[in-house]
Amino acid sequence: MPRLSQADLIQLNRTFDDRTPQELLLWANSIFGDRVAALTSMQESGNVICHMLHATPVHMPLVFVDTGVLFQETLDTRDRLMAAYGLNITTLQPKLSMEEQTSQYGVLYLSPEGQKQCCEMRKSEPLDAIKGQYDALIGSLRRADGGRRESCPILAVDTRLNVLRINPLANFTNEQMEEYIEKNNVILNPLHKQGFSTIGCNRCTTPVLPGEPKRAGRWRHLGPWSVYCGINPTDLDPERSPAVDFSQDLIDRILGRSTDFMI
Ligand code: SF4
Repeated sequence: MPRLSQADLIQLNRTFDDRTPQELLLWANSIFGDRVAALTSMQESGNVICHMLHATPVHMPLVFVDTGVLFQETLDTRDRLMAAYGLNITTLQPKLSMEEQTSQYGVLYLSPEGQKQCCEMRKSEPLDAIKGQYDALIGSLRRADGGRRESCPILAVDTRLNVLRINPLANFTNEQMEEYIEKNNVILNPLHKQGFSTIGCNRCTTPVLPGEPKRAGRWRHLGPWSVYCGINPTDLDPERSPAVDFSQDLIDRILGRSTDFMI
């Protein structure tokens, strides 16, 4: 099976740095058709993507992982987005409830190793359910969010799901985000107004104090703002050059090459 590696995407990533998020969404739609979906977690950037999908002639399904321990405000935000923007959002859930998991494994999220196991079971494994359904997933990572995302590529391969991850907002600055949200009155998770700069599970997310880094409220109990859940592979593998299996035709379309058919 032909393979598309992260190294193959270097040139395209450079070219795409000049494109707007809307242009990148249109590109994804034209290359992948009904084999692309958007992944969202009901935070600011994801909601901007939701609005862009609503406002541009790009129709694609959305996927949301409900870990079973999210804030009610996050679930309400999903419902408001579906109703107001006419979006089709599929909700995926873990096999075990948090109560079942705790009775089998104990309270995992209190230790670094336990956190990895808990995020694996409650965030990454549910997403495995869509493996094979799509060739590309739209994400909402931004370089302006700092930390490991400071250099996140617009295009990245995801070996676990065998998809291309596309981050149309990678280059979107904080000023551009604010302007877009204000101009379009984007529906936001109300927790942002209560000091939550990023929002995950209610067990592992706290508000952020003035002057603290944006991710200071995530896994605060585990230390210096370097924990990531793993649902975005670029948070974990910045140094590797992994590859995914795609048909040669799809690889050519992604890379903008024309295929010669020899008879
Ligand atoms: S964020 Fe916390 S509660 Fe949620 S899946 Fe990860 S470790 Fe578990």
